[in-house]
Amino acid sequence: MDEISTPSQEWLAARLSEALGSGRVVTAPADLEPFLHEERGLYRSRSGIVVLPRSTEEVAAAVSICAEAGVSIVPQGGNSGLVGGAVAGEGEVLISLARMNRILSIDPVDFTMTVEAGAILETIQDAAEAAGCLFPLSLGAQGSCQIGGNIATNAGGINVLRYGNTRDLVLGLEAVLPDGRIWNGLRALHKDNTGYALKHLFIGSEGTLGIVTKAVLKLFPLPQEQQLALCALGTIDDALTLLSRLKGRAGDSVTAFELISGFALDLACGHSGAARPIAEAHPWFVLLELSGSQGGSALRDTLEESLGEALEQAIIGDAVIAESLDQAASFWRLRERIPEAQKSIGASIKHDVSVPVSRIPQFVSEAGAAVVEALPGTRICVFGHLGDGNLHYNLSPPADASDAAFMARYKELNAIVHDIAHRLDGSFSAEHGVGLLKAAELRRYKDPLEIELMQRVKAAFDPQGRMNPGKLLGTI
Ligand code: FAD
Repeated sequence: MDEISTPSQEWLAARLSEALGSGRVVTAPADLEPFLHEERGLYRSRSGIVVLPRSTEEVAAAVSICAEAGVSIVPQGGNSGLVGGAVAGEGEVLISLARMNRILSIDPVDFTMTVEAGAILETIQDAAEAAGCLFPLSLGAQGSCQIGGNIATNAGGINVLRYGNTRDLVLGLEAVLPDGRIWNGLRALHKDNTGYALKHLFIGSEGTLGIVTKAVLKLFPLPQEQQLALCALGTIDDALTLLSRLKGRAGDSVTAFELISGFALDLACGHSGAARPIAEAHPWFVLLELSGSQGGSALRDTLEESLGEALEQAIIGDAVIAESLDQAASFWRLRERIPEAQKSIGASIKHDVSVPVSRIPQFVSEAGAAVVEALPGTRICVFGHLGDGNLHYNLSPPADASDAAFMARYKELNAIVHDIAHRLDGSFSAEHGVGLLKAAELRRYKDPLEIELMQRVKAAFDPQGRMNPGKLLGTI
């Protein structure tokens, strides 16, 4: 215990250890380290106590002790969030769900899975597949993010077009409230019209209303056929035409439709040393996937016909269909490597915006002009979930500018991009949430009445304001 600097922290750690048992409370600096870093390096937690409960009852005990002691709590999942939501301040206790990682049951008749909140997303996907089912939530951090974190951030990812956000994939929840009581809403019901849907308040609440401890998830039939293609295009308008033609022919089978700018694809290929799948340079690329549970080659035929027609009509300039699972995986890897590749050319100012799908071309054109006017030479790396109207609109410094000079323009460039998204009836945070990073944006863009109602919900669940303070609603 000699690592703890203040007596009250020492007392609290001892009290938590006594109640939860040995090995549940971490205080040694070296052991704390993995929980203190933050994915983007923008923040660092200053907490001196991390609690690692193994059951809902242990979470409840830890929360009760903190509540009695008047200490704030920060829930942490896989710590892959991009807005500083799981960062703890001085004197706050981090509660990590890492050891509550069990798949509790799978019901292939109900098409449901019950899990603990600390289960890693990829483990859940694998367990569903082993049972002949699909859990469709899929995102770049799936090897480390936890389902509790996905629920708390209402995570999106690449399959939202067909299956929806996390919100659409959760049937029931269990959560520990800020006073330590356990709310059991762990119902596997598709229909339950019995008043306010409390689970939906927890989904997307970013740990500000309580700690999610278990969930009942919706499963789907495992696709029997999947087809992936990379298409090269001249404009985003062409990409939208392709999307609506494909939806017309293949309906719900269109499961992913990812836009990648030529600049972003070149960065990813250059960084990973991979050859560009389509050799000729084009302004835009789309990575699209069709999947279905029928088997056979019907989707392949639909894809070939659709792309053939699009080529003839000059909607696309070129296309390549993945011929093997390995080739499909290599296309996805390129998409996933864009953020890492962008890091290699300096600091980045990132935006995760959404606008109505039809307004994406207008957004890209207006934001591009405004950003370059404000800071000529800014390199714009655009990629994202075009089918959902969600773009990662990330800026890199001009080739001759230092990172420091570029980052000094952070707020100004943020405001330019977010103002345009807002004017086009969009959102400043489509899927990454608000956390610490975007709390000021929330105040800038949300209707004051909406903020007031959110504050009242927060006060109803957490009157002392001790559950993940400062996140989402900021310090207002
Ligand atoms: P953490 O980062 O630990 O926490 C995130 C927030 O949830 C915090 O506010 C925390 O307090 C709260 N929280 C965590 N667990 C709980 C719990 N059990 N109960 C209550 N609150 C809790 N996000 C997308 O939506 N779509 C993407 O495509 C996507 N791609 C990504 C790609 C990469 C490479 C990376 C690094 C991140 C990506 N993200 C994406 C962001 C991130 O992975 C998601 O937000 C993810 O859902 C966070 O889960 P986590 O377990 O890591 O949560």
